[in-house]
Amino acid sequence: MRRNFTLIKPFAPSADSGTGVRLKAHSFTLIELLVVIAIIAILASMLLPALRNAQDKGKQALCKGNLRQLNTGAAMYADDYEGVFVPSLAWQPGPPPVSRNGAFVDWKTNEDLIWPYVMNLDVYWCPMRVWTTETYKGNYGFNWNITRDTRTADQNAPSPTNPCLKLPLKLSQIRDTAGKLFCYDSGAYGTSQNEVVAPTGNFWYLPGTCMGRNPEGENSTHLLTGSVSTDYVMGRHSRGINTVMADGHSSWLVGSQVFRHGFDTAADTLFKVPVP
Ligand SMILES: [Zn+2]
Repeated sequence: MRRNFTLIKPFAPSADSGTGVRLKAHSFTLIELLVVIAIIAILASMLLPALRNAQDKGKQALCKGNLRQLNTGAAMYADDYEGVFVPSLAWQPGPPPVSRNGAFVDWKTNEDLIWPYVMNLDVYWCPMRVWTTETYKGNYGFNWNITRDTRTADQNAPSPTNPCLKLPLKLSQIRDTAGKLFCYDSGAYGTSQNEVVAPTGNFWYLPGTCMGRNPEGENSTHLLTGSVSTDYVMGRHSRGINTVMADGHSSWLVGSQVFRHGFDTAADTLFKVPVP
């Protein structure tokens, strides 16, 4: 036998209006309220990670835009210097426009050198940064093997009065430009595989590469401290970094992958560029 159920009866003749019809008052029981609250809590817990993920993706896209602008600045610099990439460090007197350190008075970082082409300090900061020290401005670095330190004695440029005999590379000198890191999320101004092997100074490191040392997630011993240590351990964008390669295309790399390239002794890695 078929039975009919009436679950809700929202409208009913009013007891005191005679002919009028209005919504019948209904009070929720405590159980009903608790069930509703539990459902809302479950929906919120499902939605919040998705929102956080969308927020992180937005910041990652913003970071990629920053790197593209820095890369464009570096390309414009190279145009003005016969195709030679911007040095990591170079003798150039005067106050530093980007880096904020007493050391950068007689010489400048790559961030300072491309400043005339960028002219926007915000571009130097990754939106996922955990490091905001004023000592060195910025959260991005350039591949030291391409940009090079043109000041140091081993680069044959011992003083401001001597010409730089060992210049940064030209684009035409780099084999496999799509496979070589140019600029990327990092500590500050210049890094190479050496900083992956031995992160130091609270500004020479690559975010997320700590995880490559121990994929189980335990922190390995390192000298980085405070928020820098968090950046180093956790990575900046989904445990990885944004990069722009030497051919100008951008990509995301997981930190543990970058770590392996730092320790790879083979000649051709993300960092190493055979010197012509
Ligand atoms: Zn970033």
